[in-house]
Amino acid sequence: MTQGRLQSLGRLAPKPATWQAWARTGMAIAAAVAIAGLSPAPAAAQAPNSDAFWATFTQPVAGAPQVIGGYSNGCLFGAQPIPLEGPGHVVIRTQRNRYWGHPRLVAFVEWLGQQAAQEQLGLLMVADAAQPRGGPISGHASHELGLDIDIWLQLLPSRAALSEAARAEPQEVSFVDEAAGQVRQDLWTPAHTRLYQLAASYPGVARIFAHPAIKAQLCRTAGPDRAWLARVRPWYGHTGHMHVRLDCPDDSPACQNQTPVAADDGCGAEVASWLVEVARPPSPVVAAAGPPPPLPAGCAGVMGR
Ligand SMILES: [Zn+2]
Repeated sequence: MTQGRLQSLGRLAPKPATWQAWARTGMAIAAAVAIAGLSPAPAAAQAPNSDAFWATFTQPVAGAPQVIGGYSNGCLFGAQPIPLEGPGHVVIRTQRNRYWGHPRLVAFVEWLGQQAAQEQLGLLMVADAAQPRGGPISGHASHELGLDIDIWLQLLPSRAALSEAARAEPQEVSFVDEAAGQVRQDLWTPAHTRLYQLAASYPGVARIFAHPAIKAQLCRTAGPDRAWLARVRPWYGHTGHMHVRLDCPDDSPACQNQTPVAADDGCGAEVASWLVEVARPPSPVVAAAGPPPPLPAGCAGVMGR
């Protein structure tokens, strides 16, 4: 991966080993306390910029929604829950309590579900958004502001097709044959192209992360309306879900937008170079990782209530 790409797309790569080890330490403390039957670990026992610390908050801070910081280092006030079921969506793994977001994100998910239902694309499986107060979240390098959402590509024929057990522990299916560098044609349908088009055309969507093979598939199947393709950004992983990121809300001055995407649809040399990039074996040299960055000062008010 190039530095330029990393800088332009933000800290979306997997967290370095030391960061994860730090988070695990905090979780181990919380688990030990829970087993001992004590009250939850005091928040001060965990590093304030660790996943484990932010996972201790089970409720949002009430009040007007306000987003603080960047997608990979921030938090939010006034989060709202995504409805666990709607006409066109179902939230999966609800036990993880990661269905919180800025009201704009909630509105986006409900809208996309309604569109999917109206066009009979299938029922959407909605995975992680953010924790109740945002902040660092295990398994993700972003999702900290309540402006990111993962939506799986498996489209359910009906709500009845998902048992409660499968809803709690679903299996994500990759839509990419990574060895071939291509989308699995046995899984991809026009409904998938349409779903990306709908999501990427929604006002306020900044970018959607997709495996380069998915981007290439979209480039081939988009048809004459192509402006939305610029917002579908090739990235590592993202073979079984779309990761939709919204722009900072205008009334959150402390929210840090990323550089807007270029106007070009990215279907030529860019996606071709990304297909080469993801086919490359991972580098055996792992850069020394420092501790996670300190959270923005504005997050102190989110932590302390
Ligand atoms: Zn994501």
